[in-house]
Amino acid sequence: MKISSIVVLGGGSAGLMTALTLKRKLPQLDIRVIRSPDIGIIGVGEGTTAVFPRHFFEYLKMKPRDFYAEAHPTWKMGIRFLWGPRKEFFYTFSFEFERRLPQLSRNNGFYYSDEFPWLGQASAYMAHDKVFPRRPDGLPQFHNNHAFHIENKTFVGWLANRCLEHGVAITDATVTTETGGQGIAALRSEAGERITADLFVDASGFRSELLGRALHEPFRSYADSLFCDRAVIGGWPRTDEPILPYTVAETMEAGWCWRIDHEHFINRGYVYSSQFLGEDAAREEFLRKNPRVATETRVVKFRSGRYERSWVGNVVAVGNAAGFVEPLEATALQVICVEASTLADSLLDSLCEPTPTLVKLYNRYNGDQWDDIRNFLSIHYKFNTRLDNPFWRACQADVALHGAQDIVDWYCENGPSVLAGVALVHPSNSFRMDGHLALLVGQKVPHDRPYDPPPTEREFWRQHCRKLAEESRQGMSPEEALKAIRSPDLNWA
Ligand SMILES: Cc1cc2nc3c(=O)[nH]c(=O)nc-3n(C[C@H](O)[C@H](O)[C@H](O)COP(=O)(O)OP(=O)(O)OC[C@H]3O[C@@H](n4cnc5c(N)ncnc54)[C@H](O)[C@@H]3O)c2cc1C
Repeated sequence: MKISSIVVLGGGSAGLMTALTLKRKLPQLDIRVIRSPDIGIIGVGEGTTAVFPRHFFEYLKMKPRDFYAEAHPTWKMGIRFLWGPRKEFFYTFSFEFERRLPQLSRNNGFYYSDEFPWLGQASAYMAHDKVFPRRPDGLPQFHNNHAFHIENKTFVGWLANRCLEHGVAITDATVTTETGGQGIAALRSEAGERITADLFVDASGFRSELLGRALHEPFRSYADSLFCDRAVIGGWPRTDEPILPYTVAETMEAGWCWRIDHEHFINRGYVYSSQFLGEDAAREEFLRKNPRVATETRVVKFRSGRYERSWVGNVVAVGNAAGFVEPLEATALQVICVEASTLADSLLDSLCEPTPTLVKLYNRYNGDQWDDIRNFLSIHYKFNTRLDNPFWRACQADVALHGAQDIVDWYCENGPSVLAGVALVHPSNSFRMDGHLALLVGQKVPHDRPYDPPPTEREFWRQHCRKLAEESRQGMSPEEALKAIRSPDLNWA
């Protein structure tokens, strides 16, 4: 297969991120996006991970200044979990649990306690609702361990403009498929155009028009680990509430509720299991929790799982067309970054003539990243003891841990020790051992090796945490940092 032309079916975030990534890395390719105004885009998906800024600003070398000016993101330093028996705990992108301070004999996870719900700079900043350190000149000290909150439609608008700027053609049409040859022979628009290409990217969302519907690739469900399959969504325009620099994930009767803070809007969504709760009851619970919701609520249905292979013949599926995992760690855009970059790298490395072994490797790598996320999320559900009701009891009893089982077994015998990280967690696993420890320690999962630090270590830890708190109180709030990035004094280089 020699690839010089690519048609991307879908103009949501998956289709446009893939088109932009391919065009930026392989400008010689002829790339065309087909999107249906009648079908539209999913319109949700607002939290990202730290992979997202790295993809756009380091891998693709896009200009942060343009992104901030047009896509209007706010910063996300991590997730504040109202989850498990503690009042709260923080998940960051800074790998704080596995870090070992030279003055202490063990890694940070062994010292974590309710007295200070932070253990490094990132979690201390989150705990004090601050976003970046303040430089002596009053501007923010930026770093790379953050993600964004970004409205799906605004983001898709920014992507479409960048695609057009880079020479990607975008056509509005609803198409049907014609199979044949290596998989898809052509797409047909309602106006009668027959659209051909060397490679088709299926970014058609949950419809999975090419991979699922046309090529009948088998779907591997994650329903034995992830029981939720619906979300009620709504929000309200911000008034005087401060902007929170993190996503809140809050335990609910049959699932959990997110809070995502945009600059002018606060978005809430209740992800629940329809096996345990009807739509009306979910809506009522959601509105009880969020009495300020001012928009019409809407319910989105989904199923968690992935297709066996995402690259089949001349079709590569990305985004929801390849798989979906519920948004508890907001990983969908991260997966798209990895899918798009591994596809671009595969084409670059094969001089646009991918071999069967390369395709096989692509499928294994991308399949593993979906499974890793499923495994990680299963820990969130299996050990959340905050509510004692039929849904959470079923989670504790029945959630299958799959690949996370070995990590949990290790933790139960050895406590939050990082020693096994290299052996038990694949190097491509974005959560690393640290993320697993954050969730296990955060939920107070019991283990056989509680550590009682000697008084000198205990005192050192207290001082360390107090110092972090003091520093973070001096940090910038999201409002101050937003003002600063609009300041003409900011040196973007
Ligand atoms: C409740 C919920 C919350 C979520 N929260 C997050 C989050 O916080 N963070 C995160 O990263 N992700 C989140 N996601 C996932 C995220 O929204 C999506 O994974 C992401 O936006 C990618 O969507 P997509 O481009 O695959 O699909 P879509 O946005 O649905 O785009 C599909 C595209 O295909 C086109 N199309 C389909 N069929 C045809 C056809 N026959 N002809 C022409 N065009 C066609 C459509 O018009 C559209 O342009 C969430 C998802 C849900 C359901």
